[in-house]
Amino acid sequence: MIKAKEITKSFGDLKVLKGINLEVRKSEIVTIVGPSGAGKTTLLQILGTLDKADSGTVEYDDLLLNTLNEKQLSKFRNEQIGFVFQFHQLLPEFTALENVCIPAYIGGKSKQEAEERGKQLLEFLGLKERLEHKPSELSGGEQQRVAVARALVNDPAVILADEPSGNLDTENKQELHKLFFDLRDKFGQTIVIVTHDRELSGMSDRKIEIKDGIIFNG
Ligand code: ADP
Ligand code: MG
Repeated sequence: MIKAKEITKSFGDLKVLKGINLEVRKSEIVTIVGPSGAGKTTLLQILGTLDKADSGTVEYDDLLLNTLNEKQLSKFRNEQIGFVFQFHQLLPEFTALENVCIPAYIGGKSKQEAEERGKQLLEFLGLKERLEHKPSELSGGEQQRVAVARALVNDPAVILADEPSGNLDTENKQELHKLFFDLRDKFGQTIVIVTHDRELSGMSDRKIEIKDGIIFNG
């Protein structure tokens, strides 16, 4: 599903990634672990086309991303990848449902189509009663579930999550983790999660450790 070859990335003199090779199979849940500053976020952003590697390639199925221009890339990203960040990054002025619908609008869906899918997802995530709430009126766990619904609204093949449970208490954390596995079981999604959480990395199909810019134990 995802194949990264010899990815390198530097910021000025700082060599962050020194040749990362990584393959993720369809419907696999892979966690990426490693010390703070190891380059986990950088790698995830490169896998997600939000950042560009200095060298190396990323392929999704047989599509070589290097061959796409910016416009094609943003279309690809909108259709194929759902992002979940550590801080939910919901827009404060918009309701839960509106936040979820935004990627669908960007993708050209009608209001009716977007809202239908958005409601369905929020319901699936136990937020049926929270559609019209603004992010500030939701708990941390609820905000993060809205962010997951937003990531799912275009039915992406891949979900990339960067420390998604980093700011949740134990109960909400466990619920969110379970949700990733439910999603995979239900929709067959391929999921890559950067995490510090040992329980989550222990549950995942495969744990990849990044250290000193390379994969330590692929
Ligand atoms: P992690 O997510 O594993 O904590 P990051 O990928 O965020 O690590 O960062 C890896 C290293 O690259 C860190 O030393 C960080 O300070 C540096 N870095 C990340 N992004 C940038 C940037 N845009 N400009 C300069 N340095 C950066
Ligand atoms: Mg990070």
